[in-house]
Amino acid sequence: MRYYDNVIELIGDTPLVRLRQVTAGISATVLAKVEYFNPGGSVKDRIALRMVEEAEQAGLLRPGGTIVEPTSGNTGVGLALVAQMRGYKCVFVCPDKVSEDKQNVLRAYGAEVVVCPTAVAPEDPRSYYNVSDRLTREIPGAWKPNQYANPANPRSHYETTGPELWEQTGGRITHFVAGVGTGGTISGTGRYLKEVSGGAVRIIGADPEGSVYSGGTGRPYLVEGVGEDFWPETYDRGVCDEIVEVSDKDSFELTRRLAREEGLLVGGSCGMAVAAALEVARRAGPDDVVVVLLPDGGRGYLSKIFDDEWMARYGFMDTSATEPTVADAL
Ligand code: PMP
Repeated sequence: MRYYDNVIELIGDTPLVRLRQVTAGISATVLAKVEYFNPGGSVKDRIALRMVEEAEQAGLLRPGGTIVEPTSGNTGVGLALVAQMRGYKCVFVCPDKVSEDKQNVLRAYGAEVVVCPTAVAPEDPRSYYNVSDRLTREIPGAWKPNQYANPANPRSHYETTGPELWEQTGGRITHFVAGVGTGGTISGTGRYLKEVSGGAVRIIGADPEGSVYSGGTGRPYLVEGVGEDFWPETYDRGVCDEIVEVSDKDSFELTRRLAREEGLLVGGSCGMAVAAALEVARRAGPDDVVVVLLPDGGRGYLSKIFDDEWMARYGFMDTSATEPTVADAL
């Protein structure tokens, strides 16, 4: 018999897939690290596992304890998976703008979701930051991972994502490109690759237009999971050789092309990272190996990025120019 003892054993060791169509005219090899192969469907399973393990070792999380985190997305799914296997409860706090579907995914894994009003200031006691702090204080045995300040977040990438990429490319990787949210992925993976290559691998952060990493002030953008309006502790400001700024339009156009041309149904931050990777790859030579990390799958974005009307409403797509369909002819 050949089987895994539990889903946690499926975290990490994700495949590299060469991009073949969106790279037309580019001589460098462009490889995608496809993180939706993790059991929770995103790169965040890696940090969830490491954060929980370190909290257990430090005695912060004990049997029967409760994990409390302000998250509505991928980190919540990762934490919920690990919590189940280790016998912890999960309470996730999210603002009411988060879709019912996303809340229900967390509930499906057995987590409790506490919804807070979006339309209050961060210092308001009802804000989701304050509610999660209060719950952490009031629930006995509660522990808050705080992915924006927890060193286990970048460390998980230093210990897994970085070594995987070095091994999978046989040490031939020359460029690593990833979107920056908490900064955990780029900081941990980037630091490992710099160390192991003696500084030869170039580290490139991809950032939405308006976010602080590319010099903005937090101006709103629609791509989810990346960019910030503050500098998290998990981001190592010394790790990136370059930051490439990408517009929402370019991010979403590439996200759709990845599904149609590469068979990769992925999220909007993946299109953003690939847009940056292609810019880097255009300047690179035929011996260069550019690796871009794709954080999650596209199912969670069907009613946005993959919906023509939504795209047209924000000016990302001209629907009058779409090709006639078979149904039009009926
Ligand atoms: N893309 C998505 C969809 C994410 O959820 C995240 C995590 N916030 C990122 C990219 C960025 O990863 P990191 O937090 O490691 O910088």
